[in-house]
Amino acid sequence: MIEARGLTKRYGRTVAVNGLTFTARAGRVTGFLGPNGAGKSTTMRMVLGLDTPDAGDVLVDGEPYRRLRDPLRTVGAMLDATWRHPGRSAREHLRWLAASNGIPDRRADEVLTLVGLDTVAKKRAGQFSLGMLQRLGIATALLGDPRVLLFDEPVNGLDPEGIVWIRRLMHALAAEGRTVFVSSHLLPEMAQTAQDLVVIGRGRLIYQGTMEEFVARTSEHGVRVRTPHAEALRTALGERGAQFTEHDGALVVSGMDSDALGELAFTAGATLHELSPITGSLERAYLELTREATEFTMEQQGAAR
Ligand code: ADP
Ligand code: MG
Repeated sequence: MIEARGLTKRYGRTVAVNGLTFTARAGRVTGFLGPNGAGKSTTMRMVLGLDTPDAGDVLVDGEPYRRLRDPLRTVGAMLDATWRHPGRSAREHLRWLAASNGIPDRRADEVLTLVGLDTVAKKRAGQFSLGMLQRLGIATALLGDPRVLLFDEPVNGLDPEGIVWIRRLMHALAAEGRTVFVSSHLLPEMAQTAQDLVVIGRGRLIYQGTMEEFVARTSEHGVRVRTPHAEALRTALGERGAQFTEHDGALVVSGMDSDALGELAFTAGATLHELSPITGSLERAYLELTREATEFTMEQQGAAR
């Protein structure tokens, strides 16, 4: 489990992470979603003790990273897959890491097989393609057989086959009871990978919950109605406290589904010429959500309804 409480990080005048509180549970793939510059990598560095928070803290399986007795066996991470020792082979690289962390040599071969690099284990990592480097990065993260795994944008630069492979691997790791925390700036990718979601924008939490609930909450954008009795409907909506806007002679009502709105219109004696739910794409909802990040969070929007 990863638990962040009020996590804050500033770089000069930039507040990269701003009072961020979230939990990533064991046995789940938690997607960490936000546009570029939202603060995902900074947060991950703080989880791993590579950056010190200005405020708040973050615990990995109940302890701050620096207090973990056996860090490599507790948490594994792939932050930047392009790092490698150009002169070393994949196997040498892993064996060297294993040796310096009291992990047996054979584990290096195990993880190379696990990520499908066993056939190129002796090739110099300097000659690896990006996809192979990603796999080597994942092998490195898995070396200590850790309970918690962090992957920062692991699908960047991967071919479709590699993307499917990583997705399956993450699901398998979570099914074994591990905590899998994976970042992306792409919602469609997350929609297929993550079971839980932590969405951030400009360093702040926008949403935390299950992927299913996120889809349910963001895919309904309101209901559009046209009526020759607009005044009667406006009054009824006002009495009910429903929010609406007006566009081109139509009302767009939020926070009510089309069934409830149709019945309200009937009771108010307003004939309807149109009653259509507006279901924006998930992608569009996400873009709007993150654009509005500084003004209000989704929790507050929900409370205002
Ligand atoms: P993400 O990973 O979501 O794209 P980052 O965590 O990399 O976001 O960056 C968040 C913000 O913090 C950005 O505005 C970025 O420019 C800034 N930032 C990140 N790292 C540093 C750093 N080492 N020095 C100065 N600014 C940084
Ligand atoms: Mg990043």
